[in-house]
Amino acid sequence: MSANESSGIVSAIDMIDAEVEKGSEGIFKDGDDRNTFSDKLRDWAAAIAAIENENGALCPDCGVKPGEKHKPGCDIERCPHCGGQALMCLSDESGELLAGCDEMPVTDEELLPWTGSWPGDKECEEYGFWCKMVMGKGWVICANNDPEAEHDKNRLHRECVWSMKDKKFVLRKT
Ligand SMILES: [Zn+2]
Ligand SMILES: [Zn+2]
Repeated sequence: MSANESSGIVSAIDMIDAEVEKGSEGIFKDGDDRNTFSDKLRDWAAAIAAIENENGALCPDCGVKPGEKHKPGCDIERCPHCGGQALMCLSDESGELLAGCDEMPVTDEELLPWTGSWPGDKECEEYGFWCKMVMGKGWVICANNDPEAEHDKNRLHRECVWSMKDKKFVLRKT
């Protein structure tokens, strides 16, 4: 069972408890047009799906909301100077945050927040970089509407460079 599934069950139990606490009539009230057990289960499932959608937008590693700064040590956070993994690039051993890639200080304002999507996904969508796994061939380029299409991060790193100014990967000038 995944963490999400178990949290879904916990949410369901909380919801049932909340309904039971509403009063003496209990969960299945007369005059309620959704008063069968299957109706209630459907309502709870929809409410849980909504909660999980919201959770899905959180940083998968440190759990912050879109627009918020990552927590220290987050795996997903990128270095604002090189676009690489912040964990591998930034250090504050001297008390000042330094980027290893250019040995320049990094200010608080520069830190890249969690956007709600994986780093590089937006760029792949913008530049049309999609790939899929084909048995015997490995990763091949495909169309964005291919049902198996995934963001082609390898191509992104091959054909793009990090722009500190734009805070994203931009196409390499040829
Ligand atoms: Zn994070
Ligand atoms: Zn860096």
